[in-house]
Amino acid sequence: MALEVPGPSPVGRPIKIRQRKMISVNYKFCPVCAGDLDFSKFGDNSPICLKCGFKFYQNSRPTVGAIITDDSRKVLLLKRAKNPSIGMLQNPGGFLMFGEDPKDGLIREVEEEVGVRVSIGKFIGMYTDEYLDDERAGTYATLNLFFEAKIVSGKPRALDETDEVSWFSKDEIKLEELAFENTKQALKDFFANQ
Ligand SMILES: [Zn+2]
Repeated sequence: MALEVPGPSPVGRPIKIRQRKMISVNYKFCPVCAGDLDFSKFGDNSPICLKCGFKFYQNSRPTVGAIITDDSRKVLLLKRAKNPSIGMLQNPGGFLMFGEDPKDGLIREVEEEVGVRVSIGKFIGMYTDEYLDDERAGTYATLNLFFEAKIVSGKPRALDETDEVSWFSKDEIKLEELAFENTKQALKDFFANQ
């Protein structure tokens, strides 16, 4: 029996990770025993501890994003109030917490950033990207899951880490004003399936 997957585009086109060498964590010590870490053995940013042998696996960090539309098919975007990419636009969303269900995480992030409650609709796609959270720690690889969403209560307003929120029609969205590659790809897939 075929596996049933929600939405018209179960798997988004993966984007090529740019500047692969630049994506690297910059950890110095083993989280188990505080021994020195050796990054040379595996080449995937997963170091091994020279003292106790612990392999410190590094994985793409999961994020969730919402493409929220109104009745005229405009998309809600927010202007980022912090780096990276301060002043640029993105969709509401963010990193999942440890063990958090993706849809719960998306509802939480949207409420934190723009103050509205959403219902989650179709899955749009999943996209790999990168994110520089703290220059001291290095650049994380991310795995970004996108869903359509509709507001069920509240009026969008700029809250946590957000400067402004606005509705944009397809023609009003300028790709060069978007903060992240994963947002660009998700919006392209979203509009391609309308
Ligand atoms: Zn160790």
